[in-house]
Amino acid sequence: MKYINFVLVCIFITFSSCTQNRVEKNTVVLLSIDGFAHDYLSKYMPENILKMANEGVQTKGLKPVFPSKTFPNHLSIVTGVYPAKHGIIHNQFYHSIIKQKYQMGKGKYDERWLTALPIWTIAEQQDVKTAIYFWPESEAEIAGYRPTHFYEYNESTPNNVRINQIINWLKLPQKKRPQFIASYFSTVDTAGHKYGVDSPQVKQAIKDIDTLIGELNQRIAQEIDHDVDVILVSDHGMAKIEQTHAIDIDSLITQNNKIRIVNGETQFFIYSNDEKSLNDTRTQLLKSASVSANNKTQTRFKVYSKGNYPEHWHYDTNSVVIPDMVVDAIAPYNFYKDKVYSNEHKEGTHGYDSKFNKELNAIFIAKGPSFKQGVVVDEFENIDIFPLLMHLLKLDKPSVDYEVDGKIDSLIPALNETTNLERIGLESNDLKSNVLELEKQAKK
Ligand code: AMP
Ligand code: ZN
Ligand code: ZN
Repeated sequence: MKYINFVLVCIFITFSSCTQNRVEKNTVVLLSIDGFAHDYLSKYMPENILKMANEGVQTKGLKPVFPSKTFPNHLSIVTGVYPAKHGIIHNQFYHSIIKQKYQMGKGKYDERWLTALPIWTIAEQQDVKTAIYFWPESEAEIAGYRPTHFYEYNESTPNNVRINQIINWLKLPQKKRPQFIASYFSTVDTAGHKYGVDSPQVKQAIKDIDTLIGELNQRIAQEIDHDVDVILVSDHGMAKIEQTHAIDIDSLITQNNKIRIVNGETQFFIYSNDEKSLNDTRTQLLKSASVSANNKTQTRFKVYSKGNYPEHWHYDTNSVVIPDMVVDAIAPYNFYKDKVYSNEHKEGTHGYDSKFNKELNAIFIAKGPSFKQGVVVDEFENIDIFPLLMHLLKLDKPSVDYEVDGKIDSLIPALNETTNLERIGLESNDLKSNVLELEKQAKK
């Protein structure tokens, strides 16, 4: 009898510590507003988004990875690695093993496109449920896993439907409830491309999304009785472009069947195994890289060859997708091919190197029990969001054969608790002393 009592007590302790452990875990909601420039915060003063920033944490600027396109950046946010490591190096590129051109969303047809694990895969591997109402490549099966809930991408699904579903997920009983929820909104980006950053259409798109964010926060406060951290990000900002600065790629180079060109609008990629063709193409390109106007020389684009890519692109790897040459436009120049100039991208675009185009900086705003209030952190790179998510979800370091590039350091001043960093492989002596120093400063 004594033994049975002992066993029952043990089971009770194990069970209660388990449930306690579960209860301790916050739910994390990650929202992405595509193309929401950091400048929009001061330019359009969106009431609810600014309220969220004041009640939580924001950054002076979230730095996109190169190129500042939608897919590479969304994948870097959820994997913590630069594009060459996660595989989606642009919205369009060529894969020399799959022998196909990538197009947005193609990961669901072949898992070889993706070479790093998104946070939802790592969570599902560790029995943490996830729900994604659109996020680039969230439909793909990766390492045998998919999010518990996900939808096939449909741009026309109204934004309020996505928000309502998030609330419904948050209301599920604890056992069924996803602990990581993410969603994506394209309306601000679309208006920025078509009408430009100063347009009434961008103003309206921001107002609409701001209203929805306000409603979401209000409903979480009123209807949800467990802890929720909400993180609002964007992938990049928006730069002004002009049709008069559009360059026809076909007018720059004589093409032959030994080179493959993939146009990415703000840069184009050249793939070839033939050294001579590459050299000839390079010579041709360099002749028209600059133009003279009003006694001034204007650089229209820069030509980079593999092995000499700027370090901050993190492109110099043996990857099967990295091109042999990158022709990178200087804003407001942009490229088109096959006589097709997009009417949807007439006034604004992104993809340029954000190191030289601050209007491409993105936003990061986070509010909830894990975050301090009224903190503004310095600029940081979007790859650093991944270790933050790992920390908030209390996930264990996954066994992967690559190193995560993102570091949590820049976000430590924003956090209420920093005790589980070693679980995600983030505790180093440097970091520990850094944390202690930052905590000391915060107490002052
Ligand atoms: P960008 O050209 O970089 O501005 O990319 C934005 C485009 O990506 C928008 O037209 C979106 O509708 C599209 N998009 C966003 N998410 C997805 C997705 N999960 N699958 C396919 N397309 C998407
Ligand atoms: Zn985007
Ligand atoms: Zn866009």
